[in-house]
Amino acid sequence: MNYQEIIHKQKAFFNTNATKDISFRIKELKRLKNVIQKNEELLYEAIYSDFKKSKYETYTTELAIIYHEIDIALVKIKKWTKRKRVSTGLANLPGKSYIIPEPLGTVLVMGAWNYPYQLSLAPAIAAIAAGCTVVIKPSEIPSNSSAAMTKIISENFNPEFLKIIEGGVEETTALLKHKFDKIFFTGSIQVGKIIYQAAAKHLTPVTLELGGKSPTIITKDVNIDMTAKRLVWAKFINTGQTCIAPDYVMVESSIQSEFLEAIKKHIKSADYQIENQNYTQIINQKNFERLLNLIEKDKVYFGGDSDADKRIISPTVMTDVSFSDKVMQEEIFGPILPVLSFDNIDNAISDIKTLSKPLSCYVFTKNKTIKNKILNEISFGGGAVNDAVMHFMEQNLPFGGVGDSGIGNYHGKAGFEAFSHYKSILQKTFWIELNLKYSPYTSSKLKWLKRLIG
Ligand code: NAD
Repeated sequence: MNYQEIIHKQKAFFNTNATKDISFRIKELKRLKNVIQKNEELLYEAIYSDFKKSKYETYTTELAIIYHEIDIALVKIKKWTKRKRVSTGLANLPGKSYIIPEPLGTVLVMGAWNYPYQLSLAPAIAAIAAGCTVVIKPSEIPSNSSAAMTKIISENFNPEFLKIIEGGVEETTALLKHKFDKIFFTGSIQVGKIIYQAAAKHLTPVTLELGGKSPTIITKDVNIDMTAKRLVWAKFINTGQTCIAPDYVMVESSIQSEFLEAIKKHIKSADYQIENQNYTQIINQKNFERLLNLIEKDKVYFGGDSDADKRIISPTVMTDVSFSDKVMQEEIFGPILPVLSFDNIDNAISDIKTLSKPLSCYVFTKNKTIKNKILNEISFGGGAVNDAVMHFMEQNLPFGGVGDSGIGNYHGKAGFEAFSHYKSILQKTFWIELNLKYSPYTSSKLKWLKRLIG
């Protein structure tokens, strides 16, 4: 595939100014929703063949998020694209100042494999709303989902406006040699660094949505049963293959055994089995083996079973874990939940801070002082109090990481902003021109200047 030609044509299309027309963006967003709705069955089947993921979970964790992003953009686009008037200082009166959002241009969106549709399409929706032309490079790992998405986009969109390029490392490396006006990447920290370096060669701005080990802290005063129920859902949805899944739990030691019992109860009642479509496969053999290698048999409190033919690992809870164990050395990204205990919140916070800044952090507590201490002292992308993962669904909460977990945000207005430049304009009239700034620079002029500017 000739990438140069694709990008060149997208840039030429952008330069026709067609995408600057708000009604064009609205039409294309509606088209995208319509195309996905018409092809839901195809998308369900493709993701099932990649993950054995149910329609229910595909709808809730993929399509519903995409539809919601489109709907929000359709409702808000006129407001987001409006120029914003701001006040003008004395030195420039009479005059007015305003800010115009403008699309960055031709952008590249790169997706990760764990939610193949929404991680590619939600940033693309934001880019379309902002008025960009878009090249999407989905992850090659869920190959059926990637092919299904490519099919429906190529059949329904002008490639000069929206185009999917499939491929792995080789194709992506070639693609990254070209100059885009923005790169929006979702994936691992390791590849994030490669993307950042490639972008730097062209001074291309980036949003990097990366990963990390997201902690959960639970104090003794919580509703243990409800905490366990929410956590079990958040951890094992998509078999833990979620960037914001609670990676590990730190629970106050006095409630640890009751908490573990509650976790076990809710895992059992969730009835996690591939056969009844309540559970999902591990994406590939490599990850299956990586995950099994993290499980230390003598530390398994519950679960730990696996089936290599079906690529299934049962929900696994580990106890007596310490920060030096191998399960604490990398992002788990699978159905293993290490539970650590603490007696002193300050020590727990310092332990968490020995790891790099996570994408999310969850605190379950009724203690306001502890809640505020955690929110104040730990740096992380975003999170929730007394829940986990659900903050992702809030369109008014910008979503993104900090430090090693990423750069920039998206979702709702934050997504629009990620693909926009805010052009600042001062507009003057011809009514009057003070001589103050012009030479000769006399001392009386300086006195007046100081009075005016301060
Ligand atoms: P990955 O970094 O391996 O792949 C992401 C993308 O990069 C894919 O499109 C892939 O084709 C491409 N890629 C892979 N190797 C490359 C290379 N050497 N050069 C150029 N491109 C390359 O990530 P993944 O395994 O798909 O996803 C898992 C990671 O993504 C986890 O760390 C997870 O936390 C993170 N993640 C983050 C978010 C978020 O929103 N912050 C969401 C999902 C996943």
